[in-house]
Amino acid sequence: MENSIQKLSRKDIVFLKAYQSARSIGGIGHTLLNANELPVFNTYSIKNVIVNRYPECQPKEVILQYSDYVNLHVGNILVSRGSDEAIELLMRVFCIPYRDAIMTFSPTYTMYSKIAEIYGIKNVIVPMINNVSLNFSKIKKTLHLVKIIYICRPNNPTGHILDIDSIIKILTYTVGKTIVVIDEAYIEFCMRENIVFLLKRFVHLVILRTLSKAFGLAGIRCGFTLAHKDIIKLLSKIITPYPLPVPSINIAKQALLPSAIFDMKHRVLQLQENKIYLLRFLKKSDLVQYIFHSETNYILVQFYNAKNIFDVLWSQGIILRNQTHEPSLQECIRISVGTKKECLRLISALKIISLN
Ligand SMILES: *Cc1c(COP(=O)(O)O)cnc(C)c1O
Repeated sequence: MENSIQKLSRKDIVFLKAYQSARSIGGIGHTLLNANELPVFNTYSIKNVIVNRYPECQPKEVILQYSDYVNLHVGNILVSRGSDEAIELLMRVFCIPYRDAIMTFSPTYTMYSKIAEIYGIKNVIVPMINNVSLNFSKIKKTLHLVKIIYICRPNNPTGHILDIDSIIKILTYTVGKTIVVIDEAYIEFCMRENIVFLLKRFVHLVILRTLSKAFGLAGIRCGFTLAHKDIIKLLSKIITPYPLPVPSINIAKQALLPSAIFDMKHRVLQLQENKIYLLRFLKKSDLVQYIFHSETNYILVQFYNAKNIFDVLWSQGIILRNQTHEPSLQECIRISVGTKKECLRLISALKIISLN
């Protein structure tokens, strides 16, 4: 039965199933390989920050540093409370609720569809072919009323990266019709070509970046939008007045110093070694059906009995991310690459399951 609060609220929110983040799903353990975070922590300190005053809405120095990092003009950059906020700001600027739609390619990051649902925006889902390539003929047929296309590159949870030719193809096809958002949360882990140069050619391209993954700063909530200045101006109109707390701005500044960027690249290489080590084991394991090719800091693995493996590891404090809710990802589990020690723990636990 509806209570009085439910009667007052939007019906679609009453029936909404909340987004399940790695953190909200929980799991208690020493080996957290479920959120694609960097497994090592940085030692930033935030002494002597002034917090009685509100922060700058768009902290100039952070933007300037990021502009150096990506080699782009400051007028093409917006900073937000993680890139999740940017995903939302874009929908609020470009989509009219209960009329317009976004388009996504499954399987992909589920926040796009969840945010769309919250705003009453339709999500046109075009499944990828074999989980890796775009179905262009289907895309063309269903673009009506689609205002934004979200592409995750490299893709979460598969780890696959869409080639630049496909990106250009979709950008060419959507000129004047649709905004194309390329979510590059994991781009630092991937040695492929940069697509920032395409911003000069396509005014409807938006690139999302974050300090949450390779920079190891998921806790400060800092993301960046790279786009044509007209898009940045529209987003600036609707962003909250103070998206980033003063301590976050302070740490972001430290993380974007040239020496810290150098350290970040070093950590990425170290993690790459751990990934190779873990892959070497997985390829031999008799529990494993298939391993998705990954250009990121996580590996999507199809097991023979994912549920059992997930549950046994969970009970031992090794927390992974289950992907079996996705129709095309039966028996799949996403594993974030941890420290060498964490990889070892996972490998030993899997070896014991193999024996039983
Ligand atoms: C982790 C992740 C994000 C979230 O980034 P925040 O900056 O922490 O909000 C965005 N997109 C994808 C694909 C992610 O996996």
